[in-house]
Formats: sequence, structure tokens, C-alpha cells
Amino acid sequence: MSKKCRVRFAPSPTGPLHIGGVRTALFNYLYAKKHGGDFILRIEDTDQNRYVEGAEEYIINSLNWCGITFDEGPGKDKGFGPYRQSERKHLYRQYADELISKGKAYYAFDTQEELNFHRKDHEEKGKTFIYNWHNRLKLTNSLSLSKEETQTRLNSNADYVIRFLSPKDETIKLQDTIRGEITIDTNILDDKVLFKSDGMPTYHLANIIDDHLMQISHIIRGEEWLPSLALHQLLYDAFGWQAPEFAHLPLIMKPTGKGKLSKRDGEKLGFPVFPLSWGASVGYKEAGYYPEAVINFLALLGWNPGTEQELFSLQELSAVFSLERVHKGGARFDPDKTKWYNHHYLQQQDEDELTKRFLSKLKTIAATSNTEIDAEFNDVKKIVQLIKERATFEADFWELSDFFFIAPTAYDEKATKKQWKEDTADILNQVASILDNMDDFEAEIISHGVKDWIGNEGLSFGKVMPPLRLVIVGAMKGPDLFQIMALIGKNASIERIKRAITTITDSNI
Ligand code: GLU
Repeated sequence: MSKKCRVRFAPSPTGPLHIGGVRTALFNYLYAKKHGGDFILRIEDTDQNRYVEGAEEYIINSLNWCGITFDEGPGKDKGFGPYRQSERKHLYRQYADELISKGKAYYAFDTQEELNFHRKDHEEKGKTFIYNWHNRLKLTNSLSLSKEETQTRLNSNADYVIRFLSPKDETIKLQDTIRGEITIDTNILDDKVLFKSDGMPTYHLANIIDDHLMQISHIIRGEEWLPSLALHQLLYDAFGWQAPEFAHLPLIMKPTGKGKLSKRDGEKLGFPVFPLSWGASVGYKEAGYYPEAVINFLALLGWNPGTEQELFSLQELSAVFSLERVHKGGARFDPDKTKWYNHHYLQQQDEDELTKRFLSKLKTIAATSNTEIDAEFNDVKKIVQLIKERATFEADFWELSDFFFIAPTAYDEKATKKQWKEDTADILNQVASILDNMDDFEAEIISHGVKDWIGNEGLSFGKVMPPLRLVIVGAMKGPDLFQIMALIGKNASIERIKRAITTITDSNI
């Protein structure tokens, strides 16, 4: 690579960043890291009508949460700034003028009403109105009007836009790293507006000028921008600039595989589509996902390492990522896989940190439910160690462990019917005395004691262990029963057995 690798993520602050946008940012970031390049964040806010307050901050917070940090961008000027297009306003006009003087662009004076009329008229005839070679001389612009008339209109401050003069009867060859060569017949292109009557450039013009001025070497962006590629290439040619390399990433599809994943799918299908919460939409962070999990599943949406490996840290991804392994076809979004990743990264979390966070949740639960919850750091840590394997999110901890903290007062009905036999109360009373005679109440010791007793009595495990779990836990769930008993302690275990015997016998099941 001769040119320094410089890539950019160029979102428009029109709302929250969709998860697809995060993937685009991630692939740019990974490409930059892999090639020792720079990752730039540029805010494309030329469309004032679509500007949404707070969106830029949201984008930056989201990237930071994911660990996709930019080398250059708003607040981090490395000599190519400003990085907000609204702050670069003064730059664009001269380039539009340059295209006019080169005969590559022209002034168009058509009013909105006139254009709407043409659109409607075409629609009624089952056609689409395209402003280009086949009708531009019939419309109101500097190509159809005389020089004098054009000048008079410009002098009188008439509203106008600057349009690109797309070439007629040419075949252009476009290169895309992921898609290969794409051939386009220029006759299908419309004369896109480059500069608007409000004095602002459109996305197309500002985008390529900034990519040129910021010395962007590779443009990695979503497939939805592929239809703009021809115009962009023609603009680079018109200016006489060398175009960057292009790579258009595959779409992210709905879990069914049919149709593009949209911002609204989150609410409809019940999984987040935004990294952070936005209004009423819950983000990945708030839903309990770790950034490592989000990064990992996004990396594999459209890219594969060429091996069976599925687990990658951001650093590992930076070492192995390549555009050659990005595929063309849409990438199906799989919400179950995202959970699988989260489960994996939950197991990797620092146990002390998990414990601290769970302790603070326990405090809240105790306060809001007016219950006393006795929770020592070391005990809670042991509980976390026992249950985390079953958890996908930290928020699952309470449901998986509430019985450690609160003795059951009711017992799963179905399980009670199934497990409670005539001799169960008697058996469990005997287990209670075995436990009572133990000096050390550690899981191993309890396990030996109870199992030896079962053996000596000639009982079956099935007669003892399931009802014992039922009375200790309240239901047929939870981790190793001896570990549970060791943690809740001898007295509490015996109390639970006794209370259950009374409750269940009284209820005559
Ligand atoms: N502002 C465009 C967007 O919102 C940038 C597209 C591009 O990367 O060229 O995605």
C-alpha cells in the first residue's frame, strides 16, 4: 500500500446509530488497525432538516462504549479538521464553482412546484422522472437558457441548485474490493444536485471533497451507498483526483433472512438494534450486553476468519481482519447468537466485579421489596461462581439465586405432587438429623454424609435427592444441592427441611 491507510466513518446525525452503522464503524476501525492506519470520525450534517439534537453525542458515546475509538474527529484535530461538515461550509462552494467552470456541472432554476409537476405527470404515465440528458434541455437551467438569461437570474438572486452534468452514452467501470468490477451505463444516471439553494452542499459533493481533503485511502461503507458509487467516481474524475478504494459492506438482514434489518425491527422482534438506549428503545448496553459480545457478533456479520474460530477480542480482530473475507451476500442477524456471545463473555468477567455489581443489585432488591437480604461479599462471590454458567446476563443472577437469600415458603406444585411420597417426610427428617450431626458443613462433607447414609439405608437417590432439592430451593432448579446447603448453612438448611415438611404435610398434597 503506497498511500497511508486512512479510513473514515461518516455518519449523519439524524438519529441513533443503528447496529449496522456500528458494524461499518467497526470494519473501518479494524481495517485501520490492521494496516497501521488512522480511523477518522466525520460528522456529515449538511442536511439541516434532518439534524437531530443529541445524535452526534450519541454516536460518539456508542463508539466509545464499544471500544471503537477514533484517532481523529470532533475534538481530536490532527490537522485535517474541522470534522463536522457544518463547520466546513465555507470550503465547498469553490469546488462547485470549479465544476461549473469545467463544464461538469450547471445551474438549475426549476422550482419545487415544477419538479413536483413533472414527477406527478410521469407517475401518472407509469414512468419515473429522471433529470438528465434526455430532458435537461427542456427544463430550466444554464444549459437550456442563454448565457444572458442565466446571468440575469443569478444576479437577481433567484433560487437555484447546482447539478452534476452526468455524461451520456458512456460505460464506466467501477472497482469495489468486495464486489469486484461493476459496469454502469451512464445514461441511467440522473443529474444529481451537488449544491442546494440554502447554500449547503449535498451529501455527494461534501462527501467526496472531504474524503479527498482528508486524504482518505479506503471507503468502507454500507451497501446502500453502492448506487452512489458511479456519481462519486465521476466526481473524482471531474476534479482530476484519484479516487480512494471502495468496499461496500453487505446488508444486515432480519433474523428470517428476508429483508433488511430496520430500526423498527428491534421493538417488533424483541431485541435491541441500537448500541445504547435512545428514547424508549433499549440499547445493547442497557439490555445487559457486554461491548465485547456486541463487537464479536458484529464482526462476524458479513466477515469470516476462514476458520472455525468464533470468539475474537477486538485486538484479535484487528490482527486478522481483511476485506477479502467480507462477503457480498446479506448477513442474517441472529439474536440467539448474540446471547450466546454474551453468555461467553459473562463467564470471562472478573468475578470480584461481578460480585460487586450483584451486591449492589441485592441492596436495591432488599430496599424495594422490603426484605432483609443477608449478603456477605465472599458468600455472594461463591454464589456468583455457582450460577454464572447458567446466566446469559448479569440480570439473570437474581432469578437464578433468589433461594440462596430467601427461604422458600411455597413449593412448586407439580414437583411436589411428583416427589412427595408417603415416606418422604420421614426420610427428610432423618436427613435433617444427619446434617445436624455434622461438625463441618462443607459441600464435600455434606455430600459424603448424605450419600453414605442413602447407601447404608439401601435407599435410592431418587427418593432422597429430588425432594431434598424441592424443600431447600422450593423448586427443581439451581446448581449443585450440596453447594447450596453449604452456602446457606447448617441451621438454615435444617430449618428449610422442617418448615417444608410441616407446610407440605399440612396442605395434604
Ligand atoms: N453520511 C453517510 C451516512 O450517513 C456516509 C456514507 C459514506 O460513508 O459515504 O452513512
